[in-house]
Amino acid sequence: MKLYFEGHGERYAVEQSLLTLFPGERPMYPEVPPSGDNELELSLEEGPDGFSSRALLRRDGHCYEAHSHVPSSEGVRDVVSLTRLRRRCLQEAFYLAAVKHLGYEPPWGMLSGVRPVKLPVRAVLGGATLEEAEVQLQDRYRVSPLRRELAMDCAREALAAKAALGPRDISLYIGIPFCPTRCAYCSFISAAGHNNRLIEPYLAVLHDEIRAAGARVRELGVNIHSVYIGGGTPTTLSPSQLSALLGAVREAFSLSSGIEFTVEAGRPDTMTREVLTAIRDGGGNRISLNPQTMSDQVLRTIGRAHTAADTLRAWELVQAVGFPGVNMDLIAGLPGDDLSGFQDTLSKVLALGPENVTVHTLALKRGSRLKEEGSEIPSGSQVAEMLDFAWAALRKADYLPYYLYRQKFMSGALENVGWCKEGLSSVYNICMMEELHSILSLGAGGVTKIIDYESGSLRRFSNPKYPQEYIREGPRMIQEKRELLL
Ligand code: SF4
Repeated sequence: MKLYFEGHGERYAVEQSLLTLFPGERPMYPEVPPSGDNELELSLEEGPDGFSSRALLRRDGHCYEAHSHVPSSEGVRDVVSLTRLRRRCLQEAFYLAAVKHLGYEPPWGMLSGVRPVKLPVRAVLGGATLEEAEVQLQDRYRVSPLRRELAMDCAREALAAKAALGPRDISLYIGIPFCPTRCAYCSFISAAGHNNRLIEPYLAVLHDEIRAAGARVRELGVNIHSVYIGGGTPTTLSPSQLSALLGAVREAFSLSSGIEFTVEAGRPDTMTREVLTAIRDGGGNRISLNPQTMSDQVLRTIGRAHTAADTLRAWELVQAVGFPGVNMDLIAGLPGDDLSGFQDTLSKVLALGPENVTVHTLALKRGSRLKEEGSEIPSGSQVAEMLDFAWAALRKADYLPYYLYRQKFMSGALENVGWCKEGLSSVYNICMMEELHSILSLGAGGVTKIIDYESGSLRRFSNPKYPQEYIREGPRMIQEKRELLL
């Protein structure tokens, strides 16, 4: 879509709205006002009483016009607040014009960010009541009733998690970017192959990083509140590699007993009794077993090298080895799936009764095979039906939503939601998603986020992204990170 601006240069904010409202469109910036179709003219004026914006959206031979005015509150003169108001004004005008064209309001209204729950959490921490925070979602951001309910349930969980945090608590993330084979919807950096020749050199650098980070954490006197080993598929590692890894983590960070320690086993085809026993004996007490779908046909289409029967066998093994917490991930909107297939998947998973179920919406990014091949996927409205069904079925089965996030390129601009049985949420997921405390990330692609509680500011340190880079640059990176950390 051609974007032409007058009176401002807010490309980033407008592009975020474009991605959410018209996910297939990419921005183009003509030099002169456009005069054709599929284009947006967006102007802004700043007056003594606030910002005014006008949007002219030309699409499919029609022109849609909308206006927005955002008053500047008394005394708001700082650059950050004024920038927020300006962006909100522009996004609102664009949104109102887009709604005239679309003929419906998107479920998350004007919100385009990945963390919608942060808004009510921030509002309450700033002194608002929960009711006032919900009214803000409704009036200012035009969020639909069902999504407001989801967001407010997750906000309550986040506020409870925040209240339970100690002042020196942080969480630890460790990435294992290897998978047995590559799923067709994956755009992650993960390297495929059980016996990938990079695994051993990768683990050697990772062990060095774990030792260095553990020493720094002890020097600083901070406390590890939860641990998450994710990927990729950590269970691509052999039982002895897993035992050594979990042992190194326990030793380096002197973990308190009973803290939440998740290992994202992920692919059912990697779960053997030996692998699961190595995780349990190494201190792992929460495991993620991800069927994604219980349809063998859909599994074949998305290139997962396992069947629904493998998932059930893996479930039996997980039960036999014994883990207090099990999460199962599902994806709504996979190619070849439909509402009845998704209903069948969810019913089969609910019959197992895991402590957590995470319902994702398919997000096809560049780099995934499905995206490159232009595969047909269920429409946004079909995916919305699947999520509405999940919402009702999970609540009926006594699950509560506890964290949620959105991604770019999601079908229907919907969301991913983590559901839990009462009192059995994952504290790591909440703290990480709502940025409630610092996260120390180790391994390729890990992004350490250091939160300054006084100012609310956030610093990041990114590890090298790819396994080869991580192996090559590991020693230098470990030293640099040590100096910057916490
Ligand atoms: S298991 Fe996850 S990280 Fe691995 S290939 Fe599949 S989608 Fe990608």
